[in-house]
This record gives sequence, C-alpha cells and structure tokens, in this order.
Amino acid sequence: MRNALPAAAILALLAAGPAASKPKYKALIVDGQSNHRIWPESTQLLKGYLEETKLFAVDIATTPPAGESMTGFQPPFFDYDVVVSNYNGKSWPVRTMWAFEKYVGGGGAFVSVHAANNAFPEWVAYNEMIAVGGWGNRTEQHGPRLRFRGGKFVPDNTPGVGGGHGVRHEFPLVIRDPNHPVTRGLPPVWMHAEDELYDRLRGPAKNVTVLAGAYSAPETRGTGEHEPILMAIRYGRGRVFHTTLGHSLTAMRCVGFITTFQRGAEWAASGTVTLKVPDDFPGAEKAVVRP
Ligand code: ZN
Repeated sequence: MRNALPAAAILALLAAGPAASKPKYKALIVDGQSNHRIWPESTQLLKGYLEETKLFAVDIATTPPAGESMTGFQPPFFDYDVVVSNYNGKSWPVRTMWAFEKYVGGGGAFVSVHAANNAFPEWVAYNEMIAVGGWGNRTEQHGPRLRFRGGKFVPDNTPGVGGGHGVRHEFPLVIRDPNHPVTRGLPPVWMHAEDELYDRLRGPAKNVTVLAGAYSAPETRGTGEHEPILMAIRYGRGRVFHTTLGHSLTAMRCVGFITTFQRGAEWAASGTVTLKVPDDFPGAEKAVVRP
C-alpha cells in the first residue's frame, strides 16, 4: 500500500477530470512599445481572454523600451502555437525578424491586434502577413486599399495615404464571410463598443479573406466606405488573424472583440474553431461590454 493515493486525492483527480488537463496550445504575446499607452493592461486583458478558454497557456515577451538596444530581443517563436502582437514600436533585430518570418511562413500562426498593424511599415514580409496596415507613411507604394465593390472587398490601387479613423463611436460589424471558422454562428450584424474604425489601410493585400467589415460613416468623419475589420490571411503555410479593433480597454472588453479574438487565435493556432459563441454575444442593436 506504500504507493496508494489517499482516497480524497483520487476523488479530487476524478472530479477535476479533463478540465485539469494541460492547455492544448502555447501562445506568446509580444509587447513593449506602443503609442497606445494602455499596452501593459491591454496585454493582460488579451492574456486573460486566451487563458479563460482553457485552450491556451500564455507567455509574454516584452521588448526593451524605445531608445534602448533591441539586440537581446529574440523570443523563441518556434516554441509557440500562436504569436499575438500588441506591439507598435521600433524595429526588431534582423535575426528576430528573420526568425518570425520563418516561423509564420513555415506553418506558424500570428494574431495582429489593433495598432500592431501600424508597426513595421518597411518590413515586406510583415506587411504580407497583415495584408493591410496603417500609418508609418504607408501609401500606394505599400499596396492597394481594400474597397467593398459588388459584394466583396477588392484591391484598389488609387494613390493615397494608408491609415486613418474618424471619431470614436459604437459601430455595427457586418459579417462578410459567414462560413469561415472564426465567424460561423455569429449574428450577421453585431454592435461593437466605442472604438476607432480604422480606414484606408494599405498593403500587399494578398491571400486575404475579409471576415467582417464596418461602414465608416461620413457623420463620424469616416470615409463613406465599408472598411475591412476582421481578416484571415494565408502567409506561406501559416495562418494570420487580423483584427483592427481594440483601441481602448472599453473596446477590448466588448464581447464581440473578446469572442472574435479568442476564436481568431484558436483558428490561427489550429485551423479550426471549437469555442462556442457566448450567450451574451451582442446583436445589431446594442454593444455588450464586460466589466
Ligand atoms: Zn488606436
């Protein structure tokens, strides 16, 4: 009887069941610099959202502050099933950029959140991963913008600035691909909490599927165009989920943001989505923000 577990311990193990098993995927969130000063808190929100699915174990890789040497920033991307960027700052060391390209292109997974698509305007592979991005002097030189014409988003090479947004407001998201794993089962239109509605993003726009968009209304100083908001991109053998949402902590507490971020991360990591649409998912009329 020396090796027998006490009955209470056995019962505890049985009661815990599969929920006690290790998370399926390892996620790495990259942060450290951003014009969005909320980044330490927003990273904690993103980490919590991934962990609450029970699918992900999450680590954080934080760069040195702006102005300090980046040389030592070499996260082990290949140890992870998905890398999430909450980063908008100085360039990474060349070997780190190279490793990231190899990781995603070789079958890795990447999730770009909000201002992460402002980063690295001159990094060709990164721009291919995110398909379209904003600011950083992006122009037609970086590629077309995506315009909604004839029921789908098509590239438009008309010259112009890349990136902008009107005044922050609540706006409805419109699902443009209801058959993608990330969007399947979501209401066709749902109200998003107050946020920036990114517009006129530009980039290579290759291998991109726009999953959801939003109308950028002139009344809120928008473009009068339907803009791409949630995107799925194929980069080499890797999968990228790109959400332009998430300017503020309020925007990031929107159930629509949380759900699409979680499902986007699962899809990027695995190619499938098992996460259910939560009961408090918003409809077309009213945004739902968790405390
Ligand atoms: Zn912002």
